[in-house]
Amino acid sequence: MIDNSIAFLAPHLCSGCGNEGGLLCYGCKNDILDEPFLRCVACGKGLPGKSGVCGECNVFYDRAWCVADRREHIQRLIGNFKFTNARAAYRPLAELLHDYLPELPLETVIIPVPTVSSHIRQRGYDHMLLIARQLGKLRNLPVETSLKRAQSTKQRSAGRQQRIRQAQAAFIYEGSINPQKTYLLIDDVVTTGATINYVSQKLKDAGAQTVWVASISRQPLD
Ligand SMILES: [Zn+2]
Ligand SMILES: [Zn+2]
Repeated sequence: MIDNSIAFLAPHLCSGCGNEGGLLCYGCKNDILDEPFLRCVACGKGLPGKSGVCGECNVFYDRAWCVADRREHIQRLIGNFKFTNARAAYRPLAELLHDYLPELPLETVIIPVPTVSSHIRQRGYDHMLLIARQLGKLRNLPVETSLKRAQSTKQRSAGRQQRIRQAQAAFIYEGSINPQKTYLLIDDVVTTGATINYVSQKLKDAGAQTVWVASISRQPLD
């Protein structure tokens, strides 16, 4: 999964080019932003409409953004963050979302898709919560953590049907929704889209009128 041994050994070097300049240097960050993800966030295929979702896909969220395909620089940066304890990567990852997303309504609440608790224990930090808080700081928006994992699930090797079933059982919402507000779910990697869709359904069931989704990357289909 991590194919850049330089970044693996020295996480203070750029995950993209291996040079000094932070975990994601200015040039590599611009490389990512210059090649945005311009397909349907839900299926990874069709041309996205204004909502970021193609006409074929029926989803519970109202709008969606994805910064880029999960490959090259962004894959290594997320890989370092999740698997080699380069904790500081939350900053460049939050900055990518900050630079990519349009202006958001003042009444937006950021909700990170919660991390599996065994992964938080292994890493020593909740990587999505760190990204959410940093984005909240950059955008001056509150972060809510009332969305929880109901149980530990293993997603990486599961098939599509199994993943959907796991996603449906995996989340609970313990907050109280204000229907006037826009809820922005953020995640680092969208794979099949089942998780973000199910979590969006949870928020809609709890009374949310407007649920938007922003992912840093999407797993390429091939
Ligand atoms: Zn670089
Ligand atoms: Zn689609």
